[in-house]
This record gives sequence, structure tokens and C-alpha cells, in this order.
Amino acid sequence: MPPIYSSQNGCVLGDASLHGGICLGGACSFVGAVSPNNGLPLTQFALVDAGVTGLDLPGWRGKTIPFLYSWKCGIFEGDFSYRVDEGAIEILEFESSAPDVEDFPYPDFPVVFPPKSYQAKSLTLDERDQMTWVNGLTEQNIPVDVDGPLWALTSPRHQFLGVPYLLDPDGSEKNCPQCSRPMFVLATIANQIDGFEEGFFGNDFVQVVYLACNECNVLSARNFAD
Ligand SMILES: [Zn+2]
Repeated sequence: MPPIYSSQNGCVLGDASLHGGICLGGACSFVGAVSPNNGLPLTQFALVDAGVTGLDLPGWRGKTIPFLYSWKCGIFEGDFSYRVDEGAIEILEFESSAPDVEDFPYPDFPVVFPPKSYQAKSLTLDERDQMTWVNGLTEQNIPVDVDGPLWALTSPRHQFLGVPYLLDPDGSEKNCPQCSRPMFVLATIANQIDGFEEGFFGNDFVQVVYLACNECNVLSARNFAD
């Protein structure tokens, strides 16, 4: 089953701005944003204002969407799904194993990153079409020409809605754990975070893909490595 994309062109990070609609990092203030495996706070990669232009999500209930994950317990080993309610999340699906994660993803990994806000920079229809083409090549195992114009698009980046670059398009589909409807690709989170050379993951060739069901206000996260 191919991935399902939102009908919008989507956004990437624009200029840093105190009043931007996309915050990277930060401590998640939602009740329940804690690992059921080890009690540590879940890492908030991003908190997105669901109301700002370009990030408006038809049917979504609530003003903000927290993008949560954990590398410090078994959560990263499987699908991690949660429902977003007003001011709280409820975890619906997680891997309960307890791997040895002392120096993973790297020593002194902060779990909670300092917050930094950005404006949302809207993508164009042309950019959407280019990325659709690149993901199509990936699905067919056709390498992108390193000297060609599309090469610059073939690395993970933070993107919300639209058609983001996917390391594994075939693996980026899922049915909602609550209602079983097909979920759509809501966001991709990449390694880059200002001020942290080793980033969110300690690896530039990893991405976390967030799928969503806006009937149920459910997100589901899965990581991929190149
Ligand atoms: Zn659903």
C-alpha cells in the first residue's frame, strides 16, 4: 500500500521567530507525555500550532500537535501511537521492551531539548511534485542522479503536511489503531536541531515519520534509517 499524503503542499522551517508556528524541542506540557517503560519524559521533537496558515489541518481538534518519541526505552523499536486530547495525550500503542540504552542514541542525550521557534515556510506545488517524483523513484529502487536537480531533495528534513522526502515510502503507511482507517503522512522529523551537533537522533540518515488520523486525533510514529 502506498503512503497517503495530505492535499496541502506543506511547510518546512522558515526563519527563527519567537512567534513562529513551529517549535522544535521543548518540554511537552501535555499530561501523559511520559514513557510507560521508564517514566522519563517523552522527547518532544516539535510542537506545531495547528491553526497557522499552511499548517491548518481539516478536522483536527485542538490548537497544537506535539510530536513525541523516545530513544531511551523500547518505544523506538516499534510503532508508537497516541491520541492527542486537549492538554493531554493517551498512549495507544508502544513497544514495551527495555533495551540497554545507556549511551543510545549517544552519550548524555538530553531527552528534553531547549525550545526554539520558527516560522512555517510554505512549499509550492512544484516542490510537492518534485518530491512525489523522488519518492516514486525510491519506491522503485531507482537511484536519484547525484548530479541531477533532484539530488538536493534526497536527505531527511523537518516537514509538516504535503509530500515529505521518505526514506521508505512503502513502510510509511498504516491503519489507525483506533478506527482502522488508513492514516496519512503528517510530518517527518530529521536529525537537525540548532545547538546540538549530534542532533535529535545522533544520525543524519535517520528520520521519524508521523502518520495521522484526523477522525480520531491519533498520531503514529515510526523511525527509518538509510
Ligand atoms: Zn482513526
